[in-house]
Amino acid sequence: TNASQPKRADRSKVYMADLESTLHYSLRVEAARAATLSGAQLLAAFKCYVATLVKYFPGRPCVQTYLQNLDSWLRNWTEPELPRSALKEAMKNNRDASHPAVLPTNVTWVGCQGSEPHFRGYPCGLWTIFHLLTIQAAQSGPDKELPLEVLSTMRCYVRHFFGCQECAQHFEAMAAESMDRVAGREEAVLWLWSHHNEVNARLAGGDTEDPNFPKLQWPPPDMCPQCHREERGVHAWNQPAVLTFLKAHFSPANIHLDYAE
Ligand code: FAD
Repeated sequence: TNASQPKRADRSKVYMADLESTLHYSLRVEAARAATLSGAQLLAAFKCYVATLVKYFPGRPCVQTYLQNLDSWLRNWTEPELPRSALKEAMKNNRDASHPAVLPTNVTWVGCQGSEPHFRGYPCGLWTIFHLLTIQAAQSGPDKELPLEVLSTMRCYVRHFFGCQECAQHFEAMAAESMDRVAGREEAVLWLWSHHNEVNARLAGGDTEDPNFPKLQWPPPDMCPQCHREERGVHAWNQPAVLTFLKAHFSPANIHLDYAE
């Protein structure tokens, strides 16, 4: 498929093509860009990202196997420095094994497709991945156990690898201010949702905004009427309804395979 060809996307759906494109780009391009993963922090951040994906990313079987293989390979790597060449080799697909380990190498944006190539795409995919991970974590374990597991993985990933440094600084400032107070996995879901909305508000009307995808406080009323309330004439969120909406929106059942390789 031609990456720039317009694709029919439904904003109420999550697309596997976006998720896999994001993983391919983040693992093989963005994180691997650090010439060597040297320094304990960088390597730890990368290992942590892959381990969290293995635990919570609801991928197709070949992608799950890919992530599991990469995770065990990284666990066996105990030297302090990881040369890029070794990492690149470890991140190759293996289609011939009895359990194929494949993360597609093409980048196809569907729900994250912008009206121009420089809009949307990867940053949209990265938000989507981390929303999905916080939700999967909230669905899979006791609420009070490791509430920051996914958020601190995201914080480390963004700090060490996210190519947009200005974004990383903004995100780190928000994290430093309040992330540590998050006391449960559902609160972690809502923390990411409300801080993403803070970013949307800051960027609305700016020059990175795709004119066809204006920054909204999300989900807008037409997507989730019950998420919105009014208190004495002032807009307020109905947080329990937002949580219910997020659990449905970012559920494996709402991930669609259109345009996936
Ligand atoms: P995005 O904001 O990328 O959202 C992707 C999708 O997530 C949306 O299409 C929607 O389906 C859903 N969504 C939207 N809001 C929410 C929400 N509150 N909760 C759950 N789901 C939601 N750009 C800058 O110019 N300056 C910055 O400082 C900056 N900081 C960033 C920090 C991080 C950590 C990330 C990942 C990105 C940052 N960006 C920043 C990029 C910017 O936030 C957008 O990702 C980019 O402009 C593309 O916007 P988009 O329209 O595709 O929607």
